[in-house]
Amino acid sequence: MDRRLFLGALAASAVMALTGGALIGDGFYTPPVIEPKSEGRPRFRPRPDPHASPVPKRFGAPHLTRVPLPGGGSLYGLPGDGNLLSLTVDDGNDSEVVALYAKFAADSGMRLTFFLNGIRPSWTDNAALLRPLVDSGQVQLGNHTWSHPSLTSLSDTDIVSQLTKNDNFIKTTYGVEAKPYYRPPFGYHNDHTDAVAAGIGYTQPVMWYGSLSDSGAITDQQMTGFVNKWLLPQHIVIGHANFATVTRHYDEIVQVIRDRGLQPITLDDVFLRR
Ligand SMILES: [Zn+2]
Repeated sequence: MDRRLFLGALAASAVMALTGGALIGDGFYTPPVIEPKSEGRPRFRPRPDPHASPVPKRFGAPHLTRVPLPGGGSLYGLPGDGNLLSLTVDDGNDSEVVALYAKFAADSGMRLTFFLNGIRPSWTDNAALLRPLVDSGQVQLGNHTWSHPSLTSLSDTDIVSQLTKNDNFIKTTYGVEAKPYYRPPFGYHNDHTDAVAAGIGYTQPVMWYGSLSDSGAITDQQMTGFVNKWLLPQHIVIGHANFATVTRHYDEIVQVIRDRGLQPITLDDVFLRR
């Protein structure tokens, strides 16, 4: 490689390192978030409160002044500086894992946003467990389509049908409105699919910046790595209710959140729906 090419490659990899761009999630490229005040990889910035009382046993509801959704694009993180963490959990391929997530939330006060596929029996099997958490606002439900197709390979009619069928399921089973929040399966979307979804009220695609990378099976060691790497202030992190690995890491998740002084939130805790 000649010197110029080599320097170019060096510069490109330096940019990747600086902006934190990475292959994560379902294995798809997650666009880097440019953090103006940060020169390195996203770093944990502790904000200890000298007046804080001893750490409570359970996470509670945050007291936030909600802000309007930014609009006009996907959501990758939470606005501004702060100590908030949005853990979002997708799919629900394993009913037992969904049950254990519900128990985790009930036991710990952990606030979660599920992007569910109604075709999975887990969301019907566990409705009685989840409903009180949804009613109280501790758990929020968002639309991940009925059966998890890639929206970019569907006709407009099928995009509408996928979102509408799941929307109806969420309303019927849980009595709540998911709009405007949806997560395109595999993170695949474009201006056209966004416009079709927006046409029926799904105006806010929710992406992520940080992943437990457990849409497929991973090891406990990998899970520990992702938990430590990505549970960071103002991040939206994606996990999945598909494999049991995560269910062995709930205590660890709570500990990391506590150690870093983070406040778990749902999207509704932070944003006013448009
Ligand atoms: Zn998914």
